[in-house]
Amino acid sequence: MKYCSQCAHPVSLRIPPGDALPRYVCDHCQTIHYQNPKIVAGCIPEWEDRILLCRRAIEPRYGLWTVPAGFMENGETVADAAARETLEEARAQVRDCSLYALFNLPHISQVYVLFRARLPRPEFGPGTESLEVDLFTEARIPWDRLAFPVIRETLRRYFADRRNGTFPVHTGDIAPPPGWRGNPA
Ligand SMILES: [Zn+2]
Repeated sequence: MKYCSQCAHPVSLRIPPGDALPRYVCDHCQTIHYQNPKIVAGCIPEWEDRILLCRRAIEPRYGLWTVPAGFMENGETVADAAARETLEEARAQVRDCSLYALFNLPHISQVYVLFRARLPRPEFGPGTESLEVDLFTEARIPWDRLAFPVIRETLRRYFADRRNGTFPVHTGDIAPPPGWRGNPA
């Protein structure tokens, strides 16, 4: 951040009085611009023995497969966000969203909240952010063409649970990829 979103004057990075971390502070209007993690909400839509995946039409990871998921908006619940993303990316209506997994990705300041959800009908299609959408049995999951490590980890646990016939809520932390040089902000 270089300029204040309130008054357009330059900001400086410093620790405000009584705080512990550096923040972007506007020396003109005194606004402190806090930056906090973002929540990514998503669904594992289920139809019989298959789940719905989307092939991304956007960067990053263009052309790779993922579950429908995206950034939560202000004013909605996490489950609402997961269902909305499924409608937008896969043109599919889901029912009975039930919490399945929470993963921390501190290296990119994101938290993934994923739900299992029921597809009442196998009706779906690509939204504007998807190239294609399809139902997959476990045997057909494109493991080597999944978009994100968090999705691979989620689906690995999901199919193990499916074989056991029980779906406990999972939590975990996703480590940065080898050689990660990113900035946590
Ligand atoms: Zn300002």
